Amino acid sequence: MAQEKQGKLDELKRRLSEIADLSRAEGLLAWDQFTSMPSGGAEARARHMAALGRIRHEKATDPEIGRLLDGLEGHAASLPYESDDASLIRLARREYERATRVPTELYAEFIAHASATYQVWEQARPANDFAAVRPYLEKTVEYSRRMAECFPEADHIADPLIDVSDPGMTAETVRSLFARLREELVPLVRACVDAGTVDDSCLHKHYPETEQLEFGTRVARQFGYDFDRGRQDQSKHPFTVAVSVGDVRITTRVNEYDLSEALFSTLHEAGHAMYEQGVRPDLEGTPLATGTSMAVHESQSRLWENIVGRSYPFWEYYYPQLQATFPEQLGQVDLDAFYRAINRVRPSLIRTDADELTYNLHVMVRFDLELELLEGTLAVKDLPEAWHARYQADLGVRAPDDRDGVLQDVHWFDGTVGGAFQGYTLGNIMSALFYEEAVRQHPSIPEEMRQGRFTTLHSRLRESIYQHGSKFTAGELVERLTGGELVIEPYVRYLREKLTPPGG
Ligand code: ZN
Repeated sequence: MAQEKQGKLDELKRRLSEIADLSRAEGLLAWDQFTSMPSGGAEARARHMAALGRIRHEKATDPEIGRLLDGLEGHAASLPYESDDASLIRLARREYERATRVPTELYAEFIAHASATYQVWEQARPANDFAAVRPYLEKTVEYSRRMAECFPEADHIADPLIDVSDPGMTAETVRSLFARLREELVPLVRACVDAGTVDDSCLHKHYPETEQLEFGTRVARQFGYDFDRGRQDQSKHPFTVAVSVGDVRITTRVNEYDLSEALFSTLHEAGHAMYEQGVRPDLEGTPLATGTSMAVHESQSRLWENIVGRSYPFWEYYYPQLQATFPEQLGQVDLDAFYRAINRVRPSLIRTDADELTYNLHVMVRFDLELELLEGTLAVKDLPEAWHARYQADLGVRAPDDRDGVLQDVHWFDGTVGGAFQGYTLGNIMSALFYEEAVRQHPSIPEEMRQGRFTTLHSRLRESIYQHGSKFTAGELVERLTGGELVIEPYVRYLREKLTPPGG
């Protein structure tokens, strides 16, 4: 490579690495805020975060990055698509475009509006007061539209918003995947409901915190989550933060009267964390050194939480250990009863408490409603009623109020309307597709799981997905692994095999 090109590439890398470092530092401050910061630190912490965010935004939108990228265009085209440098330049171009198209003043105005909206929502939800947030939400829809309109080449107004968390996905792709999935799910949910209620009272006895945490971390460690490069703390809402490839932290939440909360949130976050820990170490310090999209991230948390952690073979191995940990609570409960309890399907009002099947219906309701809001076919004032109507139609339940209806999720009240929800269900769809691919390569995986061994599965996922960080988009990963586009069939197969009631 000509010396001049090398100089440009080095300078680009230096700048991108600085931006990535700032973003990691923000992550660490957020981790501290949600795990251990005393409440007296809140005001200053908000200032620290804002300062770092501002500096990062300035650096990310510096015209010099645009000039460097322009100068490297020919060079990138001459490199193999899969090479680190070509991938880095591709990703940097995408992020630079996204950061610079929305005028800084509009973006800053929106950030201030979103933080005001969040504060109103925090009061409005417990008070069941949709009227209080309504004018804020109307402005949010307006801001979301204005920011999306900065990308006039998009086919659908939601596309630029979706692109932020799931690059390459569009409203049209998601809509058609979801429409087909919904057709499959609604009858399956109905069959589960008709089969009668499952007794899950065994999960709601008293389970002391220490033993719960000990059991969860033991499983996470056996999955392959590396505690020498990670740690687990507690927070109100469980999350994962990657401070670097060598420092990926998870949190969990313990409920002494619900065994599934801490356990499955630990397995879920361990899945996110193993993805981040599995990135090739030499990508560290570049924007490539992190998971590629929200959907691929969710595919890994769901794969380890649900496909592995709620499977029968998994519990054939672990249930005797769980019984030994909680002999009084579970000694008289057999494996089959426990397995049914952790996989109970029941339409409910709250997305975050939903079972793995109905969960998707919650997501689709929100996705459809946010598209209608952005398209202007649904007015914010009619949103609560539209919400109830869809829940009635899709899940057969109706919230008694807006608190457990339209006000339940924070997403529309601390960010844009649009782009927030699709990743959860896309992640579910991908989880089954990636798992099927791993088993196709290594048919021994289910049997190994029955013996508490996960090395083959973990290695396959590291090799096929984790190591690449953000080099490939979700669509490219799917294409590389299956030779085609994202399809729902593996996920539908997985759900049907697991959840179709006997005789159903
Ligand atoms: Zn997650």
